[in-house]
Amino acid sequence: MTATATAEPQKMQFKTELKQLLDLIIHSLYTKKEIFLRELISNAADAIDKLRFEALTNPDVLGGNSDWQIRLIPDEKAKTLTVRDNGIGMSRDQVVEHLGTIAKSGTKAFLENLKQAETKDRPELIGQFGVGFYASFMAAERVTVVSQSAAGGEAVRWESDGQGEYTVTPAERPEGRGTDVTLHLREDAAEFLSSWRLREIVKKYSDFIEHPVVLAEAKEAAGEAADAGKTEVKDESLNSRQAIWLKSKSDVKPEDANAFYKQLSHDYDDPAKTIHISAEGGAVEFKALLFLPAKRGLDWMSGPEKKSGIDLYVRRVLIQHECEEVVPPYLRFVKGVVDCADLPLNVSRETLQHNPVLAKVKSNLTNRVLKTLEEMRDGERDAYVAFFKEHGQYLKEGTAQEWGGKEKERLADLLLFESTNTKPGEYTTLEKYVAGMKAEQKEIHYLVGESRGMIEHSPYLEAFRERGEEVLLLVDPIDEFLASSLHSYKDKSLTAVDRAEAKSDETDEQKKQAEAYAPLLTALKDKLATDAADVRLSRRLKESAAVLVAGEGAMSAHMERLMARMGRGGEAPPAKRVLELNPDHPAVAAVKALHAADAADPRVEALGRLLYDQAVIAEGSRIADPSAFARRLNDAIVTAAGAVPVAAK
Ligand code: ADP
Repeated sequence: MTATATAEPQKMQFKTELKQLLDLIIHSLYTKKEIFLRELISNAADAIDKLRFEALTNPDVLGGNSDWQIRLIPDEKAKTLTVRDNGIGMSRDQVVEHLGTIAKSGTKAFLENLKQAETKDRPELIGQFGVGFYASFMAAERVTVVSQSAAGGEAVRWESDGQGEYTVTPAERPEGRGTDVTLHLREDAAEFLSSWRLREIVKKYSDFIEHPVVLAEAKEAAGEAADAGKTEVKDESLNSRQAIWLKSKSDVKPEDANAFYKQLSHDYDDPAKTIHISAEGGAVEFKALLFLPAKRGLDWMSGPEKKSGIDLYVRRVLIQHECEEVVPPYLRFVKGVVDCADLPLNVSRETLQHNPVLAKVKSNLTNRVLKTLEEMRDGERDAYVAFFKEHGQYLKEGTAQEWGGKEKERLADLLLFESTNTKPGEYTTLEKYVAGMKAEQKEIHYLVGESRGMIEHSPYLEAFRERGEEVLLLVDPIDEFLASSLHSYKDKSLTAVDRAEAKSDETDEQKKQAEAYAPLLTALKDKLATDAADVRLSRRLKESAAVLVAGEGAMSAHMERLMARMGRGGEAPPAKRVLELNPDHPAVAAVKALHAADAADPRVEALGRLLYDQAVIAEGSRIADPSAFARRLNDAIVTAAGAVPVAAK
């Protein structure tokens, strides 16, 4: 490329997104400046891991030096703090690529997520995410990076004040391969020169980092002894570096496991559950330490892009961060470490896919996580409900995905639902629902909507309530997909109660009624043709006069609202629904009488439209023409009050 051996600094621009990010970091983001150190130490440890991994197949890259170390070098006089590693280093092109753009897709997602309400409400999520290297600018007015790639070539110096430009210059690095990140500290960040403060931060955020984090400390000998005032440099290792996941459960104090979890996940809270696994003597040997987070993390917002929260080690060597081969995607909220002694150390990342050893690890881990959840469900109800409120959507996703898979029934049994038989905030399970079904009830009923409040008084529920049949109230955005992909549970099919009525239960009396209503229904069908696909009598209504139902195969009203909100509504006009009228309702009977007396009475259409609009309101949708609705309603009020309406339509 353009790497000429000139010592002139070359000025370059940050990419736009990065400018935005830096601006946010410097001006508004972090209340906890200290986390920059966590990010830099983590980068240094990654750089060491990368080199160590490469050395498994090509030991020459080490050049004989594998004394891994991350050094913190505070300089009181220069007011700088340097984080030094002897890892893989970066070439000039890599420096430009990694420190001049946002390479990480996660950072882009982060910027997008910043705009979302959830991040605003929970600022700790931002700390959980971490913005890596750029966090340095929270504490530094200028950052210098000097790096020498393990692949050889010239060392390079990168420098920036975070204001939109940076320079790169050829440089020397007497220490050889590795990277120095030097922060020229802001005035209000002088605390990061203090050794006790650095010690405290490392303990808090980086204690389990596997490589030693060493503080090069210039000690001023105190007191009046002969050597007072003499400066001596001492090295002090700050982190305990335990591979805590290799220890047996009884040797790990819960508080240590929690501290490990926090470092791993950047979460501020303790996990809801810790799972120690030691698989020995079976088909595959491994140890794992897994955590179920108490709160839903940022991963939820990064969506399906992230597929795992579990790091894969082989005998303490990190092989892959967030390894997708050890858990199914729906368990991506589980955090932790798995260390598998049965894999060769030099396993390549490519061959991790379809690796039979990992397939066994995966099935074992999945089983253990599901078992833990089952135990919580059965033994710690409150804790399970709290867990489910945060992470239930993952289990629903799993139930939907595992179509026909062996874990499907198990996952379905882990789901919690509100129903017409539960109080708000209380839940039932499919198993309990089926156990409570009446002998004559063939199907599991459900109704999908935006919130319990909006659907629990729905006219659709009236007949079920009267028959004493429970209806599941599904209010999660994912529920519609879940219900349609779950399809059935224990041979009982799941059916939405707002679908067209399948059965025609016509007794003699009902037949007579149908005949009497036929002229009105034909008239209304004609007059409401632009809005309703059909107008017919309903047997499902008890108290309400009218309801709208989706024809078989049509999209439900809830789904349509969701699509409209996602901006997909414009592509196709909403499917017309069927207007069902309750023949036993006085309002409907009154319209019939009006039509029978004078088929041309304009009030027939006006009142028919009122019935239609009230059904639209009842299902939680918006009426197309609110002012026309108000006019018709007002006319009806005037008539009811005994005066003569101004206009009938
Ligand atoms: P992340 O580490 O999450 O990918 P960063 O912004 O912290 O994001 O770093 C961007 C990239 O810069 C890293 O992915 C890595 O390739 C490189 N990098 C950062 N610090 C170092 C270092 N100490 N040694 C080698 N490469 C580094």
